Amino acid sequence: MRMYLNGQWVDASDGGLLEVVNPALGQVVDTVPNATREDLNRALDLAVAGQKIWNAVPLHEKLAILERYACMVTERVDSIARIMCEEGGKPIEQCRTEVYANAAIFRIYCSAANTFYGKTLPMNAEPRSQGDLAFTIHEPLGVFANIVPFNYPVELAAHKLAPMLVTGNAVVLLPSSKTPRSALMITELLVKAGVPAAAISCLTGEGRKIGAWAVEDKRVAAVSFTGSTAVGIGIAETCAKDLRRVSLELGGNDPMIIYDDCDFEKALEEAVSGRIGNAGQTCCASKRFLVQRGIYDRFAAALRNCLEQLRIGDPADPSVELGPVIRKEAAAVVIAQIQKTLDQGGTLVCGGNRTGAFVAPTIIRTPKTADIAKDMEVFGPVFPLIPFETEQEAVEIANQTCYGLSSGVMTADMSKAVRTAKQLQAGACILGGSGNYRLAHQPFGGYKLSGLGREGAVSTLEEMTQLKTISLKGILNGGL
Ligand code: NAP
Repeated sequence: MRMYLNGQWVDASDGGLLEVVNPALGQVVDTVPNATREDLNRALDLAVAGQKIWNAVPLHEKLAILERYACMVTERVDSIARIMCEEGGKPIEQCRTEVYANAAIFRIYCSAANTFYGKTLPMNAEPRSQGDLAFTIHEPLGVFANIVPFNYPVELAAHKLAPMLVTGNAVVLLPSSKTPRSALMITELLVKAGVPAAAISCLTGEGRKIGAWAVEDKRVAAVSFTGSTAVGIGIAETCAKDLRRVSLELGGNDPMIIYDDCDFEKALEEAVSGRIGNAGQTCCASKRFLVQRGIYDRFAAALRNCLEQLRIGDPADPSVELGPVIRKEAAAVVIAQIQKTLDQGGTLVCGGNRTGAFVAPTIIRTPKTADIAKDMEVFGPVFPLIPFETEQEAVEIANQTCYGLSSGVMTADMSKAVRTAKQLQAGACILGGSGNYRLAHQPFGGYKLSGLGREGAVSTLEEMTQLKTISLKGILNGGL
């Protein structure tokens, strides 16, 4: 596949290519261009001009275009999902769900844009403002670099594209080099739906090059990035030099606290679904399972039983629940993290091995002192079970991390649930479930090193625009 620039499928200016690999088979299935600086220059020049054209389109027309796009995506769920499954290794049914989510996110932002009001400021509040009138309007920031990781290429792109576009910004979409083709497909659909070709492009290339070049470029007014904390901090540092805006959705090591008095079966179900989706490669997946002593042994045994029944295999098979991680090298990292946890006092209950990019579902009885119980994020189907005695100890373990994305609490005691939620240092807390839960309206984002800013229809329109106050001086005293 080629990349999408100015409404056309193009090669890199130097003809360079990157391989697209199917992680389940370990085979190259396609190539995409390896974009050069020259390609980025072209995309940014176009975007600067395209932003003005797009911003001038009346809101009702923008909404009609984006609604048309959402319909087009929905009509192509199968073809987009197939590509995602092939290059990302995500089970096909999860890919289909993600494509539907992309369309839903656009629709939700379109409806939010209709009520994205400015404010009329109080009149005559100060003696010096007698006879004046003032109001605020939201204006776009300009050109956004939209950088998304491999794990949810279509859904995470939408969480950014929809608010960027509906508020009149232009976008250069930079997908991960590991999962570039679904992003290219949705970019083409945006243009076919009516977004000016200059206002949206999708360049493919290695993130550490093309992403870094885009972040440095001052034609980029703002960067919205989802990915690792280390890269996110580097982006914030670069943008800070010229006070360009950044929004960062970063890593997590989210706790799920399972109290003795919980609904045991529901806790099991939530633990499995909250960890196993996309082979454990989800930012807000539950990654540390804090289980109270009274049910700890029973929970470990029951969880093992559940994991043994998971259907593992070819992600293109609709019955498969667990596929590979993104690459065999990523699987090797997960195995090394498991080994480290065992070296730090953990005991293996099941799993601990891999075949190619497939990591066996793994349970480790884990002391609260191990790295995995603190700051070591594992992107794979691994369940560290960490025992605790009291509510206070559970909160202490949950908070002993540099991250703070999401969290989950299982208990029948509503008062204890809310009390726990209030004490957790995280951007979200799900009571009665895993923290692996995200709604398009929800202000999603992290405390501490899990991010900066929030994505969600209740807050992102503000973050992707700038506020201007227009004052009509003396208007009520006979004129300006
Ligand atoms: P990553 O290495 O930081 O990559 C994320 C994206 O940035 C990719 O598109 C990557 O391209 C690109 N990139 C790499 N180096 C860059 C640089 N120097 N400048 C600009 N862009 C650069 O993250 P990952 O390991 O793929 O993703 C997993 C991490 O993302 C985990 O920590 C996970 O928790 C986090 N995440 C967070 C959220 C959230 O909403 N909070 C959601 C999903 C994932 P290449 O892939 O081509 O290198």
